[in-house]
Amino acid sequence: MKVLVFIEQRDGKIKSSAHEALTVGFKLAGSSANLAAVLVGQGVAGHASQLAGWGPDTVYTADSADCALYNVQSYANGVESAIKAFSPDVVLGVASPMGRDVFPRLAARMDGAILTDLTYVESSGSGVQGTKPMYSGKCIADVATEGAKISFVTIRQNVFPVAKPGSGNAGATPVSAAAGDGKIKTVEIRKGKSAKPDLTEASLIISGGRAMANSDNFKILADCADVIGATVGASRAAVDSGYASHDMQVGQTGKTVNPNLYIACGISGSIQHMAGMRTSKVIVAVNTDKDAPIFGVASYGIVGDLFKVVPLMTEQFKNLLK
Ligand SMILES: Cc1cc2nc3c(=O)[nH]c(=O)nc-3n(C[C@H](O)[C@H](O)[C@H](O)COP(=O)(O)OP(=O)(O)OC[C@H]3O[C@@H](n4cnc5c(N)ncnc54)[C@H](O)[C@@H]3O)c2cc1C
Repeated sequence: MKVLVFIEQRDGKIKSSAHEALTVGFKLAGSSANLAAVLVGQGVAGHASQLAGWGPDTVYTADSADCALYNVQSYANGVESAIKAFSPDVVLGVASPMGRDVFPRLAARMDGAILTDLTYVESSGSGVQGTKPMYSGKCIADVATEGAKISFVTIRQNVFPVAKPGSGNAGATPVSAAAGDGKIKTVEIRKGKSAKPDLTEASLIISGGRAMANSDNFKILADCADVIGATVGASRAAVDSGYASHDMQVGQTGKTVNPNLYIACGISGSIQHMAGMRTSKVIVAVNTDKDAPIFGVASYGIVGDLFKVVPLMTEQFKNLLK
């Protein structure tokens, strides 16, 4: 089958999740000739070579000043141009905020089928089938596209292991990135202050809940995060109380994360919080209440006061990483 992968980039740097999508795309396509990628943005033509060896023979570049700032219309136009040029059976991307914005719009525009947030995917005839967690991970749905002329698929980040096939010339082929109809205009994008990876990309996360009691106390989490290279997250209670900023919120109304290690400190484990982190590979919970629900999903639990436990963990990490 022919597969087109939408590659997300920031300031010319290919996002690590794009490599996950390329790995899945190469498996579905079966060859470099059947796999293409599309890069959208301003000045992206020069970045196609970064994808050499990652599978695709062709990288469509929708390079335009209209795409300098992310705008769903212009970006969808860029991907649509690549679809028209390559005629794929499947268009694949990541279930990131951008993927959630662009893919449904394209599926509607092109009368395609769409499967979102898959944690397993394989080909079935000219379509795809896979699994997706539902109801905050309480059950898994088997889903498939059937009889669709084109299928749009997003995969969950940090689930699929990355494997670089070593083939694929990644030759840049320009396609049009026509401006949107002007109904949506991105005026400005303000960057978050943190230099750490965004929560959705982080492989290590340490989060604090209501028990942090104030914003200054988050420093003990930041100190631990600095030692192991983690990103700091928060529960909604901590965010609503003003201890942490909204971009740090994990959960149903915050970010969905899937790191290798998630350390939950003073977080009870509400359904809404767990909706955003329960698929983390290893979960460590620190809580004074041995009956806190978070221990139900934790791989390791520490019943104790986070203000004593976290500094001890930080010291241990320092010793281990010396
Ligand atoms: C529609 C909706 C959407 C929501 N979306 C989200 C969301 O996206 N994300 C989210 O997180 N929540 C969300 N919530 C809120 C959610 O229901 C909970 O209220 C919230 O997750 C609780 O946060 P918490 O665990 O920090 O606080 P609490 O539930 O108050 O838990 C604090 C925990 O800290 C422990 N503790 C206290 N002192 C210490 C100490 N010194 N050391 C260690 N442990 C200690 C306590 O035993 C307790 O378990 C949503 C709610 C609704 C209704």
